[in-house]
Amino acid sequence: MKVPFITKEQVEEIVKTYPTPFHIYDEKGIRENARAMNKAFSWNPGFKEYFAVKATPNPTILRILHEEGCGTDCSSMAELILSEKSGVTGYDVMFSSNETPAEEFVKCAKIGGIINLDDITHIDFVLKAIEDAISSGELSREDLGEGLTPDGKERRLPKRMSCRFNPGGIFQLGESGEAVQVMDNPGDAKYGMTKDQIIEAYKRLSELGVEELGIHSFLASNTLSNDYYPALAKILFELAVEIKEKAGVSLSFINLSGGVGIAYQPDAPSNDIAVIGEGVHKVYDEVLVPAGLGNVSIFTELGRFMLAPYGHLITKAVHEKHIYKEYIGVDACAANLMRPAMYGSYHHLTVLGKEEAPATETYDVVGSLCENNDKFAIDRKLPKIDIGDYICIHDTGAHGFSMGYNYNGRLWSSELLLREDKSVICIRRAETLEDYFATLDNYWEVEI
Ligand SMILES: *Cc1c(COP(=O)(O)O)cnc(C)c1O
Repeated sequence: MKVPFITKEQVEEIVKTYPTPFHIYDEKGIRENARAMNKAFSWNPGFKEYFAVKATPNPTILRILHEEGCGTDCSSMAELILSEKSGVTGYDVMFSSNETPAEEFVKCAKIGGIINLDDITHIDFVLKAIEDAISSGELSREDLGEGLTPDGKERRLPKRMSCRFNPGGIFQLGESGEAVQVMDNPGDAKYGMTKDQIIEAYKRLSELGVEELGIHSFLASNTLSNDYYPALAKILFELAVEIKEKAGVSLSFINLSGGVGIAYQPDAPSNDIAVIGEGVHKVYDEVLVPAGLGNVSIFTELGRFMLAPYGHLITKAVHEKHIYKEYIGVDACAANLMRPAMYGSYHHLTVLGKEEAPATETYDVVGSLCENNDKFAIDRKLPKIDIGDYICIHDTGAHGFSMGYNYNGRLWSSELLLREDKSVICIRRAETLEDYFATLDNYWEVEI
């Protein structure tokens, strides 16, 4: 059973200041989960979780996670600036981008972040971007790292960098004979380099004076299995040994990226991060330690696992409609939470104040967009809903607010934070019509 972290009474108090719909995050849950994450990997002294900013791009959230020892994983100029302004810079920033403009690589270098190259051709692209930025005075060689390269030359690339790996084929979990869980199809994914390319890339990067190299791979998302990270770790650890043999490079860090999922369905099994951490530890001791790679730091880039359960979208029932089906119309819509419309995702609903009431009705709970996929729930068994009831949509803390959009001129909601002392603060105000029209400047008067 899923229990909201907020009650009807609390929501009635909050709406006096911040009307629905709004996203609200649970500071206590976020901090406790981040601590459990760090504890699960405490066997690895260099461990760091780089929170995937795209999941919840809010400075207050980034600062809370940073206080708990997390960095940021960025993939655009806006995310780099958000990280910088939230006080997260240097090696606390991972830049796992793709199809990246030159100025974004330069910005990452400027704030001292770790560029994670998506392709072998990006070595020359970054070299040129950095040379151009140094010529124009935008960047200095010192920004790339202290001192000279190991062979006494000036730095041309940042001292620490990473490469993204794509093993191709199909990624599966489970032994043959057992039930095999097909996870994802890396062979169809646009990301990363092939094995031959990545070995070549490490040779070149180390010739170019990069001293601390890492590898990154993201093979499956929202996995509900304690075996995903250990299985991915085995692939990357074995590749690290091969890289040491073939490229003569001992990797400094291995980034398991995102993909550890959460149970959106109330009866789905949950991942146990302590078991996952131990699973990775075991493979580390089996593969890396005997190969003389026992100093490698483990990095992760989780978004969903770090935040999804600690966010709710709170919305109010504003209409009911009885046609061929029973509908409840709410004041939130897919512009506030796109996952059900986009992926058909399940999000659990709780009618606040009716937690114990029997689920006697079957409803479609829908938003106001002129799109028939704007449904938070379809044929959902729920207690009888009355107009004015507050509905808690669960697990919206990641890939919720951040995937919002303005279709039908619907505006972005506010984001609130439930502090550990139960007080509530606003961490992003709701968008106004003025914000919505701001990009039109004076275009009302365009001559036609
Ligand atoms: C989206 C993304 C993540 C986070 O994924 P989750 O499924 O939220 O854990 C991490 N790294 C990269 C490069 C991503 O694109």
